[in-house]
Amino acid sequence: MNFSIQHFESLDSTNKEVLRQAKDGAQQGLTIVAEQQTHGKGRLGRKWETVDHALAMSVLLRPSIDTAKVSQLSLVSAVAAHEALSLFAPQTRIKWPNDLLIDGKKVCGILTEMQQGKHGLAVVVGLGINVSEPASGWAKDMRTPPTHLHAYSQHHISKDDVLQAILESLNTWYSRFIQDGFFPIRHAWEKAHIANGQTVSVHDGNTYIQGIALGLADDGALRLLVNGEEQRIIAGDVSLMESKT
Ligand code: ATP
Repeated sequence: MNFSIQHFESLDSTNKEVLRQAKDGAQQGLTIVAEQQTHGKGRLGRKWETVDHALAMSVLLRPSIDTAKVSQLSLVSAVAAHEALSLFAPQTRIKWPNDLLIDGKKVCGILTEMQQGKHGLAVVVGLGINVSEPASGWAKDMRTPPTHLHAYSQHHISKDDVLQAILESLNTWYSRFIQDGFFPIRHAWEKAHIANGQTVSVHDGNTYIQGIALGLADDGALRLLVNGEEQRIIAGDVSLMESKT
């Protein structure tokens, strides 16, 4: 894939900019990077804080796949981000579905969105990565404690180093997905998952379910062993009940 990178000082959201340009026919590989986002967003309409030392980036994909499989691209992106961020912090892990954590703290969030238009299917993969600590401190209301890559590296890491690493991994894993399907993604995702074989609690609206995380189903659902029976989790927030270390 050829990446065509555009840098912005400030945007509402890098995902929104990609979707706007996709509507006008932008091609796969368009990559939008912004120093600041005024309306950075996460899953379920949650807010993503783009603090001064964070990388906010979104990439346009135009896969020829059934729209039912688009959700698998969130997991492709998580695997790619895991590979890239592990270069800087090898202890990076994935928390279902696509948060990247180091020592249980959140270093990267991913939001995948899609749009059908006259130029065909557009999928945008947006990543927010905390590269260093924000000068003004973290926002107070983070649901999972945040962290940044510099806390785990003795070398200076630039936002551009991280951008290049992410694009390289995304290229590799996206090509693998298009050629070989979801199987290799699922395997890589499970290897990087923070909670395999551990007890987790899933909060979905009003209900809490506790069970042992078994891995991923083909559609990206989390397989959970609850009272000896396997259940599929398709939405919700996962918390670890035990630590792996
Ligand atoms: P979470 O369980 O952390 O809320 P999520 O998958 O539901 O994860 P995301 O889409 O990844 O949500 O991102 C939104 C969430 O990330 C917000 O709820 C907020 O608490 C947290 N958050 C926002 N900005 C940052 C940041 N810069 N670093 C770490 N966490 C952040």
